[in-house]
Amino acid sequence: MSYFNKCLVAGAAVIILAAYFYFHFKKQKKNTKKCKSAVDDLKLIQELGKEISSKLQMSELLPAIMDAFVKAGDVSKGSLMLYDREKDVLDIKTSVGLSDRARKHIKFKIGEGIAGRVAETAKPILINDTTGAHMYKDFFSEDSKGRPRETILSLPLIFKGEVLGVIALDAKTSGGQFIRNDERLLSILASQAAVSINNAKMYEMAITDDLTKLYSKRHFVIRLQEEVEKARRYDRPLSLLFIDIDHFKEFNDTYGHQLGDKALKHLAGIIKQTTRAADISGRYGGEEFVVILPETAKEHALILAERLRKNIEKQSFVARGNEYRITVSIGIGEYKTKMTSPSQLIKEADKNLYEAKQKGRNRVVA
Ligand code: GH3
Ligand code: MG
Ligand code: MG
Repeated sequence: MSYFNKCLVAGAAVIILAAYFYFHFKKQKKNTKKCKSAVDDLKLIQELGKEISSKLQMSELLPAIMDAFVKAGDVSKGSLMLYDREKDVLDIKTSVGLSDRARKHIKFKIGEGIAGRVAETAKPILINDTTGAHMYKDFFSEDSKGRPRETILSLPLIFKGEVLGVIALDAKTSGGQFIRNDERLLSILASQAAVSINNAKMYEMAITDDLTKLYSKRHFVIRLQEEVEKARRYDRPLSLLFIDIDHFKEFNDTYGHQLGDKALKHLAGIIKQTTRAADISGRYGGEEFVVILPETAKEHALILAERLRKNIEKQSFVARGNEYRITVSIGIGEYKTKMTSPSQLIKEADKNLYEAKQKGRNRVVA
């Protein structure tokens, strides 16, 4: 080999080596960057998971979960649905960027639409379709049909192999598309969310009465204690209703215990309908119910109790093809600063209930 050729080979070797090292280090740098962002993502998921798991009440937990998905997934439109076993549908519990109408009316059967498919298969669905011609086209609402592209990520909320619900994410705030990495990351968040939903369900079961779905006596007593404490500390009004069905023994003896149970459920439904969201309703005993009315003085409690009494008297319930009606007597207790314990408030309401019974039933005494 001539000297010139030797130089040429050596030069080429140096260039190849230099190129190798250049690309090798560039790749390493890129991998380090990738690694760093993956760690940041996981850190965010861990933090959001922690935030979620601190909530025990479903009413606080579900919006917190939605919020976590908005943050972790850069989401501007999405919803959280829970599976309603009795009705066999997915029910939207909380959402972002969805109209009130859509939120109230959209209900997916299992297997129906994207969310229904996710619930059925217990597997995520990721769609990025720039033509709108994908297999779930029918699912899209009118407003989304005009959009140039769809990006959808729907994830199951699974606890111990059971689908508790579905998270449906419809659009990215940045306008970009969901990618596989979103799916992987948000699936971790979804499994944390499912554990928290299960915990909240167990908690709910522990504090509610099975038949009427109102609070149990034990939980009611705890809540009353809290409300009395608040009323005392902030010098705010507080009232309590004590409700008892009239001649309920007779009702049971005449129509049977099963129909009696139906009457209790019916009554609980009217109590829920008539009271406000901030009021706290519970089943105190067999056919005795209580309602805590925060921020409510006696005059207003009286108006509410009278409305409740009338609604119960008016609304019949149908069972075995027949119509049934019940009436109630209501005693009102009002918190006073001289009261030293919640039981005094209960005692006052109970005393007034007794008087309502004495005066002929189907009435309110304050
Ligand atoms: P009053 O107008 O004085 O309140 O008469 P009452 O018959 O309602 O009063 P009483 O306290 O004597 O009877 C309560 C009845 O409530 C006794 C029982 O038959 C019925 N009861 C209590 N718990 C339940 C329940 O869980 N289911 C059913 N079906 N009945 C219940
Ligand atoms: Mg009674
Ligand atoms: Mg009774």
